[in-house]
Amino acid sequence: MVKQFTYKIYRKPKNGNLDRLVNLHALLYNHCIALHKRYYRLTGKHLNQYALMRHIAKLKTRADFEWIGLLGSQSAQDVIQRIERGYSLFFKENKRGNRRIQPPTFRKVRKYRSFTLKQAGWKLVADNIIQIDGRTHKFALSRPMEGQIKTVTIKRDAVGDFWVCFACEIESSPQLASTGETGGMDFGLKTFLTLDTGTEIQSPQFFKANSRTIVHANRNLSRKQKGSSNRLKARKTLARVHRRVAWQRDDWQWKTARQLASTYDVLWIEDLNLDGMKRLWGRKVSDLAFYAFTQKLDYLMAANGKVLNKRDRFFASSKTHFACGYVNSELTLTDREWVCPQCGETVQRDINAARMIKHGRAMSWGGDSVRQAMPATVVEAQESLSL
Ligand SMILES: [Zn+2]
Repeated sequence: MVKQFTYKIYRKPKNGNLDRLVNLHALLYNHCIALHKRYYRLTGKHLNQYALMRHIAKLKTRADFEWIGLLGSQSAQDVIQRIERGYSLFFKENKRGNRRIQPPTFRKVRKYRSFTLKQAGWKLVADNIIQIDGRTHKFALSRPMEGQIKTVTIKRDAVGDFWVCFACEIESSPQLASTGETGGMDFGLKTFLTLDTGTEIQSPQFFKANSRTIVHANRNLSRKQKGSSNRLKARKTLARVHRRVAWQRDDWQWKTARQLASTYDVLWIEDLNLDGMKRLWGRKVSDLAFYAFTQKLDYLMAANGKVLNKRDRFFASSKTHFACGYVNSELTLTDREWVCPQCGETVQRDINAARMIKHGRAMSWGGDSVRQAMPATVVEAQESLSL
């Protein structure tokens, strides 16, 4: 499996060269986007990525496109592949009827973030020194690297700092012991996670905790004259605050995911339809946090030989009472608790949802389709359930 190792490159004047390289990749990116658009306008077809690669390779020999030669052919290819991935996603989602995903489009050079090198164009001179484009850059080796390096990505963040990110192929060596436990969880707006056992995990409000600093930095920025160096400085200050919030959230998510992965062998979550949630809640931030969290959880579970399963939304409905199968069609998002008219039990909304997600009880009253989709171990656990 692939593991990412990211290190901060020390701030030095020669980082200006990395800055220039990122900008050049942005220029190439925008040039390729323009070619894609023109090709589609003329032929009505999608420009093939290999044809584009050949075209770019030829372009290098022209005097006005000499600068492409500075990029190295592999990282230029990577730019084309990035665009291709954007288009693939767009075509796939469009086919499914999702019109919200847009094809890749032009990007501001200033906001372009990174470029990726494969085997060529870089060299590790020492454990913590990398050579790129003839210049050596020292980075803070915050933890030892493992495995075989597949790609090297140079990232420029909004603060203006540079990071080197090694994607390494490592042998997965499970560190978390098997427990034989299966769990279900429900994501919520109020409570970040509710487990089927009733345990609630609250999401710390990092953004809120930093809101005074953010408001202050924002106000400071808006007071500065456009194009001035003071404005640039203020923008960096704001970016630094946002970066800190993102780090805090990331850190918390990793710790929470690790805790869950060490407790459970099999975890069930609802297959989140992000579009639907956005419409329902109109909150983008929380959705993205869910997504980022499930990514981390999925990684940790897989790395330790465990499974994160997704339950179809239809079967994971929180409107169905887990114990008896009664469907409360009048349930609204604000109802945290309701009394089941069929069995008289008081139902805690989130815990009920987590149980539904864990056991997929809907199948007892629905069809057999879900049962077949479940792994054998869970089906066995289900059979022995005495209800
Ligand atoms: Zn009931």
